[in-house]
Amino acid sequence: MTKQRLVVLGGGESGVGTALLGKEKGFEVFVSDKGKIKEKYKQVLIHNEIEWEDETHTEAKVLNADVVMKSPGIPDKINLINQIKEKGIPVVSEIEFASKYTDAVIVGITGSNGKTTTATLTHYILNKVLNVGLAGNIGDSFAKQVLEKDFENYVLEISSFQLDDIVDFKPKIAVLLNITPDHLDRYDYKFENYIASKFRIAMNQTKADYLIYDADDDVITNHLKNHPVQSTLLPFSLVKKIENGAYLDHNNIKITIDNNQIIMPTSNLALEGKHNIKNAMAASTVAHLLKIRKQTIRESLENFQGVEHRLEQVLKINKVQYINDSKATNVNATYYALESMGAPTVWIVGGVDKGNNYEELFPFINEKVKAIICLGVDNEKLISTFGNMVDVIVETQFISEAVKIAYKVADAGDNVLLSPACASFDLFENYEDRGRQFKNAVRNL
Ligand code: ADP
Repeated sequence: MTKQRLVVLGGGESGVGTALLGKEKGFEVFVSDKGKIKEKYKQVLIHNEIEWEDETHTEAKVLNADVVMKSPGIPDKINLINQIKEKGIPVVSEIEFASKYTDAVIVGITGSNGKTTTATLTHYILNKVLNVGLAGNIGDSFAKQVLEKDFENYVLEISSFQLDDIVDFKPKIAVLLNITPDHLDRYDYKFENYIASKFRIAMNQTKADYLIYDADDDVITNHLKNHPVQSTLLPFSLVKKIENGAYLDHNNIKITIDNNQIIMPTSNLALEGKHNIKNAMAASTVAHLLKIRKQTIRESLENFQGVEHRLEQVLKINKVQYINDSKATNVNATYYALESMGAPTVWIVGGVDKGNNYEELFPFINEKVKAIICLGVDNEKLISTFGNMVDVIVETQFISEAVKIAYKVADAGDNVLLSPACASFDLFENYEDRGRQFKNAVRNL
């Protein structure tokens, strides 16, 4: 029998992982990347005798595929994808491909914000007891772990791009954290397309599977009303009582599943901010479903220190707390950062604006922000939006200067918060680079 041909588009973490898994499973594999493949991935492909090309797509070597794995970064509007689809060749994502080769219990976590935090926290709790892998946008690809590790459970952080190319993928437990406009350039600038994409996480679920979601998010609840799902629903809420699911009762998180309840005081949570209460509710509901003991869940929530670049406490200097929230690349993430500030705040903001509407931040600016430092190539919009709302607003293109200005403006007891609400590509390589440079600048004060 001739081998099935798997063409992998994109030679990054998920592409190379899929290639390795595909080869092991008996496919003839070809990896093609329009950009440059990183040296470390090239070495892996060469070492494993997998054919590849970069800086081009040779159509003849792609259009003869039996199945195509498209990496999430590649838009589906490009000509090559159209050609592939016209030929009737199935196009799948990495999670679709890899999930075929594991019987593990899958927890799939999606949402516009909070995926990495919640996936990492969920993994942190489960890992105390279960044999569990963490994959998706974090660390080693899911495909590579399926090939090498054979975990019995996986926590997967799943983007909408991964969900766009699933066919049968079905998490046992799905978490939908929130939906706010993001990545609309990939969804014909239609919010409803992006919403539908997020809900694909539940599309193959049955009554035997669970959908954990934010019942305070109108976008989610409205969509559910008009497009019911098969899944067993376990909502969480900060404002209303929930019979089956999680809610907040006088500063206690209460989670009930089949009349079995756990209670945890929010004062014991290591992570701050309302958004993190939600993340904790989602993660604990997963853990409760998977029968992790109450005590273990409680202790994990008390000890989990968070993920780098997400409201990360950097240093206290002269009683001023410096906080790195570089991962806040949209307004909603910054909303929760400002919301969680318990002291007057010097706010460092700016970068590549993705069509931001800053209005929802206004109450916090009036209430908590004493100075704004705009850190971007183009700060026009920030200055015209916030210029009249604070006494001090300055701009700079240098993060070290931004931090020095903040140092001068902040008084004992204040916070200095980097929460840009924008992408980082104008001045930095990525948000990690921005966060690291911020931390270095703070340490150099
Ligand atoms: P993602 O992986 O979805 O980008 P992260 O956990 O990396 O999410 O967090 C991204 C940003 O969103 C950070 O600034 C973080 O503080 C903020 N954030 C975390 N959880 C939530 C939430 N539930 N709702 C809104 N913002 C959140």
